[in-house]
Amino acid sequence: MLSPHATDSTQTLVRPEGCTEHDACTNFTCDGLWMQWAADVLAGKAIDRSQALAILDANDDQLMDILSAANRIRTHYFGKTVQLYFLMNAKSGLCPEDCHYCSQSKVSDAPIPKYTILSREKLLDGARIAAERQSKTYCIVISGRAPNEREIKAIETIVPEIKQKYGLNICACLGLLNESQAQRLAAAGVDKVNHNLNTSRDYYEKICTTHTFDDRMETLRNVRKAGLQLCSGGIIGMGERREDIVEMAFSLRELSVESIPLNFLHAIDGTPMEQKEYLSPRDCLRALAMFRFVNPSSELRIAGGRERHLRSLQPLGLLVANSIFVGDYLTTEGQPPQEDYHMIQDLGYEITGQAMVPE
Ligand code: SF4
Repeated sequence: MLSPHATDSTQTLVRPEGCTEHDACTNFTCDGLWMQWAADVLAGKAIDRSQALAILDANDDQLMDILSAANRIRTHYFGKTVQLYFLMNAKSGLCPEDCHYCSQSKVSDAPIPKYTILSREKLLDGARIAAERQSKTYCIVISGRAPNEREIKAIETIVPEIKQKYGLNICACLGLLNESQAQRLAAAGVDKVNHNLNTSRDYYEKICTTHTFDDRMETLRNVRKAGLQLCSGGIIGMGERREDIVEMAFSLRELSVESIPLNFLHAIDGTPMEQKEYLSPRDCLRALAMFRFVNPSSELRIAGGRERHLRSLQPLGLLVANSIFVGDYLTTEGQPPQEDYHMIQDLGYEITGQAMVPE
């Protein structure tokens, strides 16, 4: 289905001569335009910032057309597959940073468990659960600004053991990393490192004052230099402008990030962002679609806040994204895994890349 209003090479809407249809159309209101953009993306023509913003600005009447177009991109790169990730909060709380969205920060009063890095046995238990739940990737996450020597050594020790026993991919989320730390993780067999940009460079100081957007970019560059894959995404719903969400998506595109977790703020009581939630499920879907258009071949994961914000529209999210976490998040609960499996099955999708579960 093509729009009666074709686009020229710079993606400006051009009303064909003699066109009397869609008189009310001033910009981006043709239902076929999104599909044209998807075709352009699949032909290797990246969308620009104004197009990305138009997706976020689209009204609800256009949402199904946008999702349908974004699904075309998703299907091209990922078919009917869904990748599951499993999170282990391997060190909780005790963080000296002040990320305003985080229940583990020094400025949070949220009643969360606080503990130092888990024992080998507990990390292995988590790997077993990850494999049993059909996830491909086990995410080992520690709170803190940056890992200390003991924490790096714990990861170096446990990763080969987990990989040998379960064949899981490992994603390590350890905070800021220098080049040598990133190289040690690569040598230990870590597959990717998660370090979220979280928002735009401009908005970053509104969500954290103890480190900067550029600190985070430097870590991502160090990770890339070490030959590791990048997992980096962000959070929406923190009071940022739509332009900030677009900027984040383009920063991730510039970094060629392989895996993008998109979180929807779960405003936890006791954090500076408590009671700040304002996202509708349709806002979340528009954001997912925009990320799919901007980063067409990147894995896109619906991350924290999925159940809380998408609610009954979760399956529509998976028409655009191709990955979810199974089980709980770091300090908040997810839905029972069985509900995720049913959703995937009902969509006609299948879980891909499962790990080994030893007898
Ligand atoms: S550095 Fe990580 S653990 Fe610490 S406050 Fe920020 S997000 Fe939370």
